[in-house]
Amino acid sequence: MVFLVAASVSSCRWLRTGLPQPLHPTAPEAVLRVDACQGACTDSVDVVAMGVAGYLVVPWRDTTRLVLTPPMFTNPTVWWMTFGDLLFGTRPDTARITRRLASMPAANADRLSRVQAVLVGHGHYDHLIDVPPLVPRMPHAVVYGSETVRNLLAPVPGLDSARRVAVDGMVGRDREHAGEPIVIGPAVEVRVMPWAHAPNVGSITIAPGHQRTPRRTLPRTVHGWKLGTTYAYAIDLLDTNRTVAWRLVYHDASAGADVQRQAAAVLAGMPAARQTAVIMTAANFDILPLYPDVLLAHLAPQHVILGHWDDFFRSSERSERVVRGIHAPDLVERLAPYVGDRWSAPRAGAVTRFRW
Ligand SMILES: [Zn+2]
Repeated sequence: MVFLVAASVSSCRWLRTGLPQPLHPTAPEAVLRVDACQGACTDSVDVVAMGVAGYLVVPWRDTTRLVLTPPMFTNPTVWWMTFGDLLFGTRPDTARITRRLASMPAANADRLSRVQAVLVGHGHYDHLIDVPPLVPRMPHAVVYGSETVRNLLAPVPGLDSARRVAVDGMVGRDREHAGEPIVIGPAVEVRVMPWAHAPNVGSITIAPGHQRTPRRTLPRTVHGWKLGTTYAYAIDLLDTNRTVAWRLVYHDASAGADVQRQAAAVLAGMPAARQTAVIMTAANFDILPLYPDVLLAHLAPQHVILGHWDDFFRSSERSERVVRGIHAPDLVERLAPYVGDRWSAPRAGAVTRFRW
């Protein structure tokens, strides 16, 4: 109810979902190539879109240690969120998850079984609700996130405390204190940056606050999945000489100018990367000024992948539409000064292949 009232008060644009054409999305089976080499490429990475802010990172130097950002397939509708959620609660749609995964060869069971790290930016349901049913498919995965994320996932069978790591103490603060890396393997390291979460609707943030103690059961309604502290991540792929060949900067919420500046300072204090790509959040990109301008101006990335661009109040088994609340042509216009047309909006299942 909170959601619908807030939506109505704010603007009817929240009740509409946009046509995807302005974002000319990458088809689910397609491989979009982003090359930083001519002819003699020596390394590459596949970034597989899985839906909402879910991406599977498959580095070809070491295909045994993959990194995942959590996808969502359950996608409760606006009407369910308004009436059904409070009355009946919201559980992951496990049958749909199974069907969706079966439709994505690039995120097949073998690959999921090799996920070593799941990077969670914040605790909201659209990033966490489908993680518990994915855990059995990822027997080696450690979930990284805030204390809230660690406590929210405490009841998940098999995900003991060693596999739920709070990153609050690992966060870089500024250029001089860029944080210690989380070593995923010889070819992959992750660093944590401060980030923030813009309001969801108008000035309202859904499910604010923290989960300070480990939960005994998973949240019944979507409002139990609390925001917690928000983080961004740098996923670094290393060369054989241990320099950073490629860096993927990931965040899962739009954020204000100050925290973008702080994240940019932390990034500047990290070992230099030869190429940088960004997964940015399309949802609510226009709710605060200068997003994603500050981050993109600092990073000058080779490519931007839009995350959270698809309408997550619509069945993930229907063709994607643009997330409610934004005007897609405005987003295209916002990106142009920083990356021109070097951006893409992958549909779930699509691969963005970076080569160098
Ligand atoms: Zn959120």
